[in-house]
Amino acid sequence: MDDMPSLIRRTPWPESASRPVVTPIQPSVVYASPDPDTLDAQYTGALSGYTYAREGHPNATVLAQKIDGMEGVAGGMVLASGMAAVSAVLIGLMRAGDHVLGGDQLYGRSLRMMRDDLPRLGIRTSFADPTDCAAVEAALQPETRLILLEVVSNPTLRVADLSGIMRLAKARGILVAIDNTFTTPRGLRPFDLGADIVLHSVTKILAGHSDATLGYVAAREPELRRAIYDFAVTTGMTPSPFDCWLAERGLYTFELRYDRAEANAATLAAHLATLPGVRRVLYPTRTDHPDHNRAAAMLGARGGHMVSFEIEGGRAAANRLTRAAPNIPFAPTLGDVATTLSHPASSSHRGLTPEARAALGISEGFFRVSVGVEDIALLCREFETAIVQSQSDA
Ligand SMILES: *Cc1c(COP(=O)(O)O)cnc(C)c1O
Repeated sequence: MDDMPSLIRRTPWPESASRPVVTPIQPSVVYASPDPDTLDAQYTGALSGYTYAREGHPNATVLAQKIDGMEGVAGGMVLASGMAAVSAVLIGLMRAGDHVLGGDQLYGRSLRMMRDDLPRLGIRTSFADPTDCAAVEAALQPETRLILLEVVSNPTLRVADLSGIMRLAKARGILVAIDNTFTTPRGLRPFDLGADIVLHSVTKILAGHSDATLGYVAAREPELRRAIYDFAVTTGMTPSPFDCWLAERGLYTFELRYDRAEANAATLAAHLATLPGVRRVLYPTRTDHPDHNRAAAMLGARGGHMVSFEIEGGRAAANRLTRAAPNIPFAPTLGDVATTLSHPASSSHRGLTPEARAALGISEGFFRVSVGVEDIALLCREFETAIVQSQSDA
């Protein structure tokens, strides 16, 4: 019938004098411009407007601007994962012949990219202990163009000498990129200390609910920003609009979640240290932490939401501990709203030899806790029960 409206044509969005309060989700892959002049002006930047979602979409912009505000920078970009952000920096900015220096306890896949992938492209890499400025200085080479660091290391929570390393790098014109996933801008804003690039796995505590995989990267210099953007768009690191929406929703409660998780972490660390069978507890603001003076100077009271501890009894005791804590997911992630537990020797650090793990202080009895926002009395009780059972060989 001729007068039947085509179902194939999009129905115009209803007019409304009032606006939605909540951020809309915009899944459109493509955007229609009124005429070629307008599209041209969009490409030259004379007019702002979206064209194709791989190049940018509103949900990514909204999320990026929110994280920009937290990090004190402009023009940051949201990508499909934290590893996309690491890749965009390392592969998007470096060229054959360059040397990249990494902290020796970086996130596992970042280590792997530096060890296995960059050398394939002619980019040389090496690692140094970022708590030891002299070791970092000794590892610099004439071709070193970038240093990649995390503020607090995984899983032993060692605190990098950021100010010292920034000074070394500035004097030599070397870029410093900080993976700020663990510490978050609530703990430290690396741009304030002179970082050139900051990146995040938004997947973790920023989004905070273990239901969206995303990354973020920002650079102070527009030239770096442009290079990262072009590499990310060309290689297709596009974030999903729905994931961006979820992460933006997560950010509304980020400060509440972070502060609560951090307070819980400090209390849980203190409680764990009183329990028989616990050999040591690692938490940056504790006076028995190897870097507590630096943590105090750099992070103040912000010890973060991660706690690590080591129990007596090796793998057998570790197995008993996770089985005795069925309500605390034994899962290789962090930053969820609820507490999760990880065992580096069987997951993130399983690729290392036992000797290399021992050198980092990671035994079979070593656990890392990503502390959530639960009632702290409940958490202390659950950990106490699990640790008591881990030490009984029944
Ligand atoms: C998880 C994580 C990454 C990688 O992020 P994905 O979103 O999982 O790709 C990078 N760095 C750190 C410190 C992380 O914890």
